[in-house]
Amino acid sequence: MDIPAFRIVENNAWKELTKLIGICPGSFDPITNGHIDIIERGSKLVDKLIVAVCENPNKKGLFTMEERAELIRQSTTHIKNVEVSSFSGLLNEFVKAQNGQIIIRGLRALTDFEYEFQRALFSKYLDDDIETVFIMTNNRYSFLSSTGVRELAYFDGKLDGLVPPVVQEAILKKYKK
Ligand code: ADP
Repeated sequence: MDIPAFRIVENNAWKELTKLIGICPGSFDPITNGHIDIIERGSKLVDKLIVAVCENPNKKGLFTMEERAELIRQSTTHIKNVEVSSFSGLLNEFVKAQNGQIIIRGLRALTDFEYEFQRALFSKYLDDDIETVFIMTNNRYSFLSSTGVRELAYFDGKLDGLVPPVVQEAILKKYKK
C-alpha cells in the first residue's frame, strides 16, 4: 500500500510523494559497531529505517528481545530517521505491516553471501515487490559479529571500539550475574 508521506510544490501544484521505508532486520544480540555502520549508511537510502529485532526460535539469546531493542534505541539516537521495533514470525509479513518496500542487510564475507542469497530469493518468491538491498561491510568491522562480542566478553576481553559503551555495560552486567 502506498502511503502519501509529504507534498511538494511543483509548478504551483501539490504532488504526493511516497515515503520509502526500509527494514533492517536481525538478531542484534547485541548490537555491534558493525551493525551501527550498516544502520547509519542504510538510513541515508530511505526516508525511514525500521531496525527490527527478530525472534529466532532456534537460538537462545543472551539478551531478551526487549533488552536488544532498548540497546539499539540507545545506540542510534544520533540517527534521526531510525525507529526500533521487534517481531516474531515472517519477515515479509512484518515488512508489509510496516508499509515497507525494502529490506536492508549487511554483507561481510562469503559465508554471509550464501545465507543472504537464499534469504533474499525466498523473500522475492514470497513477495515480488519487496527488494532486498545489501550494504557491504565497512572493512573496519568486517570481522565483527555479535557471537564474537559475546565470546570475547565471556572471557573478559576488551570490547572498546567493537560495541557502544552502553552495550559494554549491559554485557558486563549479564556475565556478572
Ligand atoms: P541475523 O541473525 O539475522 O544474521 P545479525 O544480528 O547477526 O542477525 O545481523 C543482522 C544484519 O547485520 C545481517 O545482515 C548481518 O549480515 C549484518 N551484520 C552483522 N555484523 C556486521 C558487520 N560487522 N558488518 C556488516 N554487516 C554486519
